[in-house]
Amino acid sequence: MKKAIAYLRFSSLQQAKGDSARRQKKLIDEWLIHNPDYYLDPVTYEDMGLSAWRGHHAVRGAFAVFMVAVEQGLVGHGTVLLIESLDRLSREKIGEATGRLRAVLEAGIDVVTLSDNVRYTRGSLDDPFAIIRAILIAQRANEESEMKSRRMRAAWAEKRKAAAAGIIMTTKCPYWLKVNDARDGFDVLEERAEVIRSVFRMRLEGMSFVRISCALNAQGKENLKGKVSQWNSSSIERLVRKKAVIGYLVPSHQCTATEAEEIPDYYPPIMSEEDFARAQLMYREPESRRDGNFNPYLINIFRGLMRCGMCGHAIILTGISVKGYGYYVCSMRRQNRCEAVTIRRDLTDRYLINGLVQEASAANGRVSAEDTLRRLTARHLQLTGSLHNVIRAIEIAPDVTELCERAKSLSGEIKRLEGEMAGVRQMSDCATAADLNLLDISDRRACQLTASSLIREIRMHTGSKTCDVFLNNGMRIYNFPLARQVSWSSILDAMAYLGEEEIYM
Ligand SMILES: [Zn+2]
Repeated sequence: MKKAIAYLRFSSLQQAKGDSARRQKKLIDEWLIHNPDYYLDPVTYEDMGLSAWRGHHAVRGAFAVFMVAVEQGLVGHGTVLLIESLDRLSREKIGEATGRLRAVLEAGIDVVTLSDNVRYTRGSLDDPFAIIRAILIAQRANEESEMKSRRMRAAWAEKRKAAAAGIIMTTKCPYWLKVNDARDGFDVLEERAEVIRSVFRMRLEGMSFVRISCALNAQGKENLKGKVSQWNSSSIERLVRKKAVIGYLVPSHQCTATEAEEIPDYYPPIMSEEDFARAQLMYREPESRRDGNFNPYLINIFRGLMRCGMCGHAIILTGISVKGYGYYVCSMRRQNRCEAVTIRRDLTDRYLINGLVQEASAANGRVSAEDTLRRLTARHLQLTGSLHNVIRAIEIAPDVTELCERAKSLSGEIKRLEGEMAGVRQMSDCATAADLNLLDISDRRACQLTASSLIREIRMHTGSKTCDVFLNNGMRIYNFPLARQVSWSSILDAMAYLGEEEIYM
C-alpha cells in the first residue's frame, strides 16, 4: 500500500475552534475512501495558528518539518501529500510558493488538492497548464488574504484615528453607557453607573470581591449582562480593573499586539481617576488569607500578567510548595489544547524579580525622586533670591517692620523646603537599597503591586526559557531570559543607545 500524508493548516485559533479542522479531515477521509490503495500516515502535519501567507509556516511550522523530512529522503517516492487547496500551501509570494510546490514534486511526492481533487505530479512540472493553474490559484489566494488583511488594518486604523478624535467606533459600549441619538457621544445611564460606583466604594472600604458580589446580589442588582442577582467575584474583579469607568477605550488583547493604543477621554468617566487608581492598589487576596499560617508562596507575584506565547491564554501556577517550588503552565495544556511546556517557578521568579521588577521599579523611583528634587531645588533658588532682595530692601528702607515679617516667613519656607528635600533624598536611597524578603507576606504583596503597576503583560516562551515583557510605560523587551541574570541598566543603556522603545535580547 502507498502512503498518504495529510497537511492541515489553520490560519488562526478561532478557525481551529470552528469547523475548519473538521472540514479538512472530512475531505481527507473521503479521498481515502476513493483511493483504497493508500493508507494515511499516522503522522499528520498540522500548523495551528500560523498565518500562512507571509510564508511563516514554511520557516517555523509543521511544513518546515515536512520539508526537512522530504530533504532527508524520509518521505518515499509515490507518497501523496494531501492538502485542502494550494492556498493552504502557498499564501505567500508566488515565486516562493511555486518553488515549494516544485521542490515537493521533484522529490517524487505527489500533491493532491482535495477541494478540487487535482493531482500534481512530477510530470506536472512539464505540463505548463498545470503549473499555470497552480500559480493562478496561489496568486488568487495570496491576493485575497493580502487584500483582506490590508483592508482590515486600514479600516481599524481609520476607526482608531476617528476614535482618538472623539468619534464613536462601534455602537458597542460599556453597560452603563449608551450611544446618544446624534451618535456622536455617549449618555450615562445613571442608575447603572451608580451600581458601578457602589462597587468601587465597597472595594475602597476593603471589602473582598466575594462580599461585594454577595451584597449586590442581596440588593437584587443587575450585573453587566443585565441579569438580576448574578454577580460573582470574578465579574467584580474584572469590573474593578476596567479603565472604561475613567473614560478609556482599551483595545482588545488582539489589537494591542498590532500596537493600537488605548484612547483616553473616549467615554464619559463615571469614576475619578484617583479613586480608580486607589482601587487598583487594594490587596487582591481575601481577608481570610491574611493570617500567620498563610504560605507566602500562595501569592503569585505575576498573577494575571503572564500569557502563553504559543496560544495566548493565561499562564497559571501549579504545584505550589512551602519552599517556593512549582511550575508555570499554560491553562490550555490540561485540556490538551496547547503544547507549551511547563517552566520552573523558582527560577522564573528569581530572574524576573531580581532582573526586572526590583531594578526597574528602583530606576523608576530614582527618576521620580530626581524630578521632585529638581522641582524643589528650583523653588529653593527662587525663595533664597527673594529673601536676598528683601534683606537688601531692609538695609535702605525707612520702615522695616513689614519687610522683616516678609523675611521671616521666607526663611521659614526655605527651611521647610530643605527638610522636604532631605526627605526625598533619603527615600530615594531607600528605594534603591530595598531588600525584598520574598518569604514575607507584606513584601510579596508589595512586590506584586509593583509588578502589576510596572508590567502590562509577560508573554512566556517556556520552550526557549524566555519571555517578552511589555511594560506599562510602553517599553517592550523581547526574549528576556528566564535562565540567566541580566542587568536592567544594560537594557536601559541599549535602549537609550538605539533610541528605541523596544529591544530584542
Ligand atoms: Zn498555551
